[in-house]
Amino acid sequence: MNTGRVVFVGAGPGAADLITVRGARALAAAEVVLFDALTDPALRDLAPNAKWIDVGKRGFCDSTAQTAINAKLVKYGSSQQVVRLKGGDPSVFGRLEEELLALHEAKIACEVVPGVTAAIAAAALTQRPLTRRGTGRSVSLTTAMTREGDLQAARSADTEVFYMAGRQLPVLSRKLLEAGWAAETPICVVSRAGCADQIASDHTVASLAAAALLHRGRPAVVTVGAGAKALIPVHSAAQKPAKSLGLDMPHGSNRAIPV
Ligand code: SAH
Repeated sequence: MNTGRVVFVGAGPGAADLITVRGARALAAAEVVLFDALTDPALRDLAPNAKWIDVGKRGFCDSTAQTAINAKLVKYGSSQQVVRLKGGDPSVFGRLEEELLALHEAKIACEVVPGVTAAIAAAALTQRPLTRRGTGRSVSLTTAMTREGDLQAARSADTEVFYMAGRQLPVLSRKLLEAGWAAETPICVVSRAGCADQIASDHTVASLAAAALLHRGRPAVVTVGAGAKALIPVHSAAQKPAKSLGLDMPHGSNRAIPV
């Protein structure tokens, strides 16, 4: 019989103190932590005695890497208290489906603890509400990439937030125009949201290609439409993280840089 358990924990987008209290408690009780590349190393302080195993993989469509991660989850989860730590929220572009299925098949108990997804962190850190009274009634979280590696853009909501589009901003600009977005529609690009070196920049659908150099090589979300509109100039919106909840973790000062 399996005596172990796996808790999927959303680590939040960058700064360690954006994890939930429940997530922090799960880490404190963990014997093994399987973590991704985009999680903050400072989180290690919350589980100093656990065995930390790096299972980060960049890119997607790498089924071999996913099979290896599933095998590790089953191996450790059958007899130990495991935290599967994921960047942002585990349910948003986090391969949670594959991992939950592997654990259910192996009859290992699971729990999912939500986290702050990158779109929400970017909205908070730039002080741009994703919904707006009258103009922004719907929000869509979209991966710009299909399994085949094609970039696709649509107009399915008043505010469209694209994940994993950082490398293809010129193409995204073109596809957004083709999908019916007006050339002057506001776009806000935020890379490394929640980290000390966060960058936010303002563009329009027509000028999005200009963001490519600034955010190159950094995880970024691209917010298009109602929720991208600045309420106040981006540099005054730059904010310090709220006081940590007694978790005693270091955090950076978040910056937003106008372009
Ligand atoms: N589960 C994660 C998403 C993982 S997919 C979440 O809920 O946030 C990886 C993509 O997420 C990146 O390509 C990028 O688009 C986005 N992302 C992750 N961390 C980010 C960050 N700190 N700032 C901006 N975008 C980020």
